[in-house]
Amino acid sequence: MNNIDRREFLEMSVAGAGALASSRVAGATPATAGAQNETARPMRLGLIVDVDENPEAALGKVHELGVPTCQVLANTYGPEAAERLRQALVHYHLEATSLVVTGPGPEDYDFYKGPLTIGLVPREYRATRIEHIKRASDFAQVMGIPAVQTHCGFIPENPNDPNYKETVDAIREVTGYCREHGQQFRYETGQETPVTLLRAIQDVALDNQGLNFDCGNLILYGKANPVDALDVVGRYVQGIHAKDGLYPTNPRDLGEEVPIGQGKVDFPKLLSRLREVGYRGPVTIEREISGPKQMEDLKKEKTYLEQLINRLWS
Ligand code: MG
Repeated sequence: MNNIDRREFLEMSVAGAGALASSRVAGATPATAGAQNETARPMRLGLIVDVDENPEAALGKVHELGVPTCQVLANTYGPEAAERLRQALVHYHLEATSLVVTGPGPEDYDFYKGPLTIGLVPREYRATRIEHIKRASDFAQVMGIPAVQTHCGFIPENPNDPNYKETVDAIREVTGYCREHGQQFRYETGQETPVTLLRAIQDVALDNQGLNFDCGNLILYGKANPVDALDVVGRYVQGIHAKDGLYPTNPRDLGEEVPIGQGKVDFPKLLSRLREVGYRGPVTIEREISGPKQMEDLKKEKTYLEQLINRLWS
């Protein structure tokens, strides 16, 4: 989208942003937005869906599951995409809690190509991805979505690595852009250890950073036990992905993602600990398979998580 298109896009959408029945004004919120926005409410369930191809079908799936919130993965931005997504959100009475961004370019979620391809770490893709995240932030503003969320990549564990500072500078640039729009910038956890995430957040040094805490990823990448990880970064959690998995048992492949309850994430302890650190935001389910088995698993997972949340808040 060129500059003129962008301006027109933003102008035509100002009125539209208010039309979302469930949208909140994307006002400036502190790093603990997830907790502070929903202090009195228990954690509501959600589902992450890819809305690029067919937002109506994607949000229809959220509706079928019967959860009130969703995270929308979208990499196509513009008036038409905004209008279709807006209409689908209104139609199904759903609240989009974050805009999830990937790419452009290849992103291989493994131990070998991953460090070369994911997020803002690889120099080769950094500039185009910074621009892409800024366009995502524009789109989120139009849609009234309060946060932009992405994998930053295998942030170097060694703080003396020159690419650590470069990556931090890149994260600061996109976080600052989101800040101007009153949005949160959320790191999707996965490729980094919790202490490296904490270091990056402190070094970026802006007040609109948070985590989308993917508890399954911490296991799949062998980076941490998610319950213990909350000791390190719990105060920054603004969203979560309820996902389960097994630890990697060879150094070449990520661990296996499995249905919730069949992996290593201790969900009763995790939700309890999230409550202790003040988290009141959505519990967004992620199941990284497709086809009928996905909905079958999702329905069981929803029932299980509902029971845990009800027990926690009874
Ligand atoms: Mg995830």
